[in-house]
Amino acid sequence: MILVVNPGSSSIKFKLFNEAFEVLVEGLAERIGIDGALTLITNEKKHKFNTEFPDHLAAAETIIEKLRELNIVKNQNEIKSIGLRVVHGGDKIFEPVIIDSRIKKIIEINSKLAPLHNPPALVTIEAFEKTLSHAKLVACFDTAFHQSIKPEKFLYPVPYEWYEKNSVRRYGMHGISYAYIVKKFREVKQLKNNDFNLIIAHLGNGASITSIKNGKSFNTSMGLTPLDGLMMGTRSGEIDPSIIEYISKDSNMDVIEVTSILNKDSGLKGISGISSDMRDITSVMNENTRAKLAVDMYCQRVADFVIKYLNQLEGKIDGLIFTAGIGENSFIIREEIIKKLPMLNIELDSKSNIEQYDECLKISTNKSQYEVFKIRTNEELMICKDVIKLTK
Ligand code: ADP
Repeated sequence: MILVVNPGSSSIKFKLFNEAFEVLVEGLAERIGIDGALTLITNEKKHKFNTEFPDHLAAAETIIEKLRELNIVKNQNEIKSIGLRVVHGGDKIFEPVIIDSRIKKIIEINSKLAPLHNPPALVTIEAFEKTLSHAKLVACFDTAFHQSIKPEKFLYPVPYEWYEKNSVRRYGMHGISYAYIVKKFREVKQLKNNDFNLIIAHLGNGASITSIKNGKSFNTSMGLTPLDGLMMGTRSGEIDPSIIEYISKDSNMDVIEVTSILNKDSGLKGISGISSDMRDITSVMNENTRAKLAVDMYCQRVADFVIKYLNQLEGKIDGLIFTAGIGENSFIIREEIIKKLPMLNIELDSKSNIEQYDECLKISTNKSQYEVFKIRTNEELMICKDVIKLTK
């Protein structure tokens, strides 16, 4: 069995796979170190346990103990390997890796670039090293996929010393999702090589867009941090950086407070004043002008990136792909984005745009100049496959 783990600052999400890539069970240990801790495990039934855990080690132990109590895992040695999602690998990590002291050091060094994500990942790694000491641990980094991006695209036009001394550059995120989508596209199209270009819009609560040249990341919208690029659920995406100093002075806040508002109270939430959740916004957009404004701005920004990336790929793409919560599910948003791309002569197939689908569906007509797809991403499955590949 392979345990795939997504560590957060106060939670550990997990999925347990068998060697045939089937999900046996999934779950979540949440409120680590906070009152009211919970462990939820779902197979055919939902199981809920109210066990307190002071730290990630106790949460990891509880997960394994409950999997045994439920008879999902008879002997903990059955879990042969663990794949962990780690957000930031800086510029030293290019692919999934077996975790050793060098990798742990890299995760620690890059904590300054991902202070909310890397520290809990490290603590979770150490928790599972103790709890399942026989298992091989593999780290899959969100930044790794984007290491193929060239300096002229990953550098910001700021003093070069900021890059050399402070590691300021574009790193990009959602790399595990992009790697999965590229693999899925190859499978669906039965392509034998990487001789294809794509533009992939990963539109979840966090959102980014990536161009793919010859199967590899060519440019991406998230930057040094996930705040750059597209408008998101609660993040602004790219803005004039001077707004930070201006608002800070005008509203008597410090830079940390303003940056927190740009991360947590901006984007769809900030503009609509209703919610960060796209469903809440699209359901009232016909009667609420601020909801409509939020949708228009959101879609315009995606469309503008598509144009920019298509230009960088000299107009040659084999597909425009929508994925993640909004990209996979919101036919309205896909339609609105395509409407804002009149130069591309895309013809959406309105039936397939709204149609239920399993993993992948083409949503453009055969007359369309470019092919458009909706594909369901599966980061956990990607991690599971990488773990099997690396530990065999
Ligand atoms: P995260 O970045 O947290 O992984 P998700 O990929 O789960 O986010 O995406 C969450 C977003 O997807 C929310 O804005 C939610 O409203 C949107 N979403 C999920 N299902 C639908 C749907 N059926 N229609 C429209 N939007 C949806």
